[in-house]
Amino acid sequence: MTNYDYDLFVIGAGSGGTRASRVAAAHGARVAVAEEYRVGGTCVIRGCVPKKLLVYGAHFAEDLKDAKRFGWQVPDDCDFSWPTLRDNVLEEVDRINAAYTTTLESHGVDIIHQRATVSGPNEVTLADGTRKTAAKILIAVGAHPAVPDCVGHEHGITSNEAFHLDAIPKRVLIAGAGYIANEFAGIFHQFGAHVIIINRSKEILRGYDQAIRDRLLQISLMKGLEFRFDATFEGIEKGDDGCLTVTMANHEPAVVDLVMFATGRRPNTRDLGLDTAGVELDDMGAVVVDADNRSTCDSIFAVGDVTNRIQLTPIAIREGQAFADTFFGGKSVRIDYDNVPSAVFSHPPLAAVGMTESQARQKLGSVKVYTSDFRAMKNVLAGRDERALYKMVCDGDTGKIVGLHMIGPDVPEILQAAAIAVKAGLTKDQFDDTVALHPTMAEELVLMK
Ligand code: NDP
Repeated sequence: MTNYDYDLFVIGAGSGGTRASRVAAAHGARVAVAEEYRVGGTCVIRGCVPKKLLVYGAHFAEDLKDAKRFGWQVPDDCDFSWPTLRDNVLEEVDRINAAYTTTLESHGVDIIHQRATVSGPNEVTLADGTRKTAAKILIAVGAHPAVPDCVGHEHGITSNEAFHLDAIPKRVLIAGAGYIANEFAGIFHQFGAHVIIINRSKEILRGYDQAIRDRLLQISLMKGLEFRFDATFEGIEKGDDGCLTVTMANHEPAVVDLVMFATGRRPNTRDLGLDTAGVELDDMGAVVVDADNRSTCDSIFAVGDVTNRIQLTPIAIREGQAFADTFFGGKSVRIDYDNVPSAVFSHPPLAAVGMTESQARQKLGSVKVYTSDFRAMKNVLAGRDERALYKMVCDGDTGKIVGLHMIGPDVPEILQAAAIAVKAGLTKDQFDDTVALHPTMAEELVLMK
């Protein structure tokens, strides 16, 4: 048998790579992980974690206004210090980064702080030229924000840079209308910026249920966010005063202080040497893998965003765990990609699991839809004219819930619990059998008409 330096060499210490490294090491494998930037990856360093903390910070803008209706004496001109929030968030990122590093070290994983590229089916080459061999190589390098190749694109930022801004700009234009666009639109807006979202299509958040998307659009417009549709990005020109003039199809140019691209993410496979091992990539540059995360090269595997299946942290973690259990733990595990819950931490947030109404109609034909359209008690007293909407999509023949879609305060927290019931295949009747927990917003789930 060939003597390799390692049983497993992982490239990328993000959510998927870290889980796979740690679990494979716990199963007794000799593991190394190479990371060119910081242990933790997108989610911890410049994604879910710092974003969620900014969302919390942003929410205080509304909470402080509402507080007056609840009897608290709050000055009209409450001061907000962006540098304080930014630095506290970055400090928390450092803490989690250190915790991830410690976990890997305590499992005996060799952490190599260098870029590694594949140089053969069982070999990687580090940035300093050192070569390492391994029985298996796991590609867990994630993805990066796609920036349109347009004039002046270098004047724009992506979500990567948004966490490090010196100040909150007065006018922000966000290109794209997906997850990142809507989340950062809410954040910048709550911090006082005028926000314009421009999208190439007529829609926001493609893939979510139409009624929920419409509600977010309606509330966002009411709050003062500006949307421009059919507005394909054309270019940015920077003036002597530092202002950015953005040109787009079908609309007048917009003059802003900051442009942020949120137009999807692409797998980080460029110049990774995957061709040296015959690893096939798809049209987007994602590693093509089978149900066991194996690429077209027998000894090379991939998990997480680099495979472009579902770009969500918990999926990358599950894929990393399944890979390690299957190939180092003697327990074959495959991921079930059905009924994966997701959320957009917009203001207000939305969350969903399962099929949208239109997907269910196409797939099942006979569908029953139940909704609850209500104003949360807290919003009523606060005088906040923002209605929540819950929508349940059921198989018309069996009553089985095939989709649950929600927008309103705290819905990601509520949907996580409800998703268990949807995953378990429960019916509308079984929801209705459950006594409402009053007074909550979640009780609407068992009271839908
Ligand atoms: P999304 O795929 O959510 O949205 C991309 C947006 O950009 C869409 O509005 C799309 O328009 C538009 N777009 C796509 N390609 C182009 C292009 N070439 N030119 C102009 N516009 C374009 O991507 P995000 O960047 O917002 O997020 C990336 C991924 O990260 C998400 O898919 C998600 O999986 C993950 N993520 C998850 C979060 C969460 O779970 N809360 C938070 C943040 C990110 P169109 O309407 O035509 O499709």
